[in-house]
Amino acid sequence: MRTDAIVLGAGAVGVSAAVHLRQKGRQVVLVDRRGAGEETSFGNAGIIERDPYVPVAFPRALGDLVRYGLNLSPAAHYHLSHMPKIAPWLWALRRNTDTAGIERYARLIALLTERANAEHEPLIIAAKAERFLKKDGWFRFYRTDKGFREAQQLHDLASRHGSSFRIISAEEFREIEPDILEVPYKAVHWSGSWTISSPGGLVAAYADYFHSLGGAFLSGDARSLRKTDTGWAVTTAAGVVEADDVVVALGPWSADLLKPFGLTLPLAAKRGYHLHFGSRDGATLNHTVVDVENGYLIAPMDKGIRLTTGIEFADRDAAPTPVQVERLKPVAKKLFPLAEERDEAPWMGSRPALPDSLPIVGPAPGLNGLWLDFGHGHLGLTLGPVTGRLIAELIIGEPPSVDVTPYRAERFL
Ligand SMILES: Cc1cc2nc3c(=O)[nH]c(=O)nc-3n(C[C@H](O)[C@H](O)[C@H](O)COP(=O)(O)OP(=O)(O)OC[C@H]3O[C@@H](n4cnc5c(N)ncnc54)[C@H](O)[C@@H]3O)c2cc1C
Repeated sequence: MRTDAIVLGAGAVGVSAAVHLRQKGRQVVLVDRRGAGEETSFGNAGIIERDPYVPVAFPRALGDLVRYGLNLSPAAHYHLSHMPKIAPWLWALRRNTDTAGIERYARLIALLTERANAEHEPLIIAAKAERFLKKDGWFRFYRTDKGFREAQQLHDLASRHGSSFRIISAEEFREIEPDILEVPYKAVHWSGSWTISSPGGLVAAYADYFHSLGGAFLSGDARSLRKTDTGWAVTTAAGVVEADDVVVALGPWSADLLKPFGLTLPLAAKRGYHLHFGSRDGATLNHTVVDVENGYLIAPMDKGIRLTTGIEFADRDAAPTPVQVERLKPVAKKLFPLAEERDEAPWMGSRPALPDSLPIVGPAPGLNGLWLDFGHGHLGLTLGPVTGRLIAELIIGEPPSVDVTPYRAERFL
């Protein structure tokens, strides 16, 4: 079978790229070994985040370093055996999250996130997925003056970028979220962001829309990718598919695919967990709330209240160790009247993360016809349709709506 383009990976990123290519008139085959939106894109916190101006940084304060070092921080956990492997990546993260690094990140991420709502909206409408969408933002909940003051850099950057956030008092927060049991020192409403009540459901709806446009979704192993005399070929359940252009959108598995082709990129897996709960006595959570000092959030989802954790540094394929979930259960139950657990075990996924916290978008250096669209870290749901448009524009040869130079893989070579 011959097609114009193959997209490898049917998460939020790959499905979005496939839709954009198809909308631009290309014949597209989307390939995954699972269904659409069943891996990392299934279990995230559901925020289409407008204002992520400060990346998750390497800890600098001594107290933080000690807490992280002793594996006591609720926000991050690590497997000691993984540390030698991840050390160069962490060192690069440290370099990228000094003051100048954060300024640069804020500028470059804003160019992408400011387009996120506008890219999702027409897709949500076309995919008839409005039932998943809420447009009233989310909250950061600060317990202490110290915690709140540490957000100053974020607030300064957000103000400079024209973001619509609002600092509110404990009393006002109580009116908005009357069933939250604890009183914040302050809360911040990030009203420009949207939230999704079933991230996996949204990606599946986008994939159905792709199918309705005449796109093909085939089961196959991306590792069968090989160069041919005329382009690229992948083996699928429906046979060998050949194309001139192939998009790599395999999330945390992307670097594995590229290594045999001589391209080594510093992609790490920042593992994270979620668990759903019912609510006691009909309590309602109206918005997603991040308990900043404790490094987790609770979000109202279709399946119940979803608690998601911060980062776990461990081999992507090592068995789950949901110690953060266990530590956080009593903390979260004090914040909100959580009731029965609705999952047999915590879900685990791996954020595909590069050390400058930006995705890779652009051609694969030295591999004609291969295109890279991965490494979206904490923002893959947000940015999938944004980078999907960019990669489609590059493949078609249209001027990209954002200059992709700073996002290209060459920055790591
Ligand atoms: C706890 C948590 C909370 C998060 N919260 C948010 C949030 O609120 N907002 C936000 O924007 N982002 C959030 N994220 C990040 C977001 O989920 C990811 O950035 C995003 O899902 C990455 O999408 P992807 O399509 O690149 O990867 P994936 O969704 O993992 O998709 C990759 C696809 O590749 C397929 N694949 C892999 N290997 C092969 C192979 N050999 N052959 C065939 N197919 C293969 C997989 O089956 C999968 O379908 C969160 C992540 C976590 C873990």
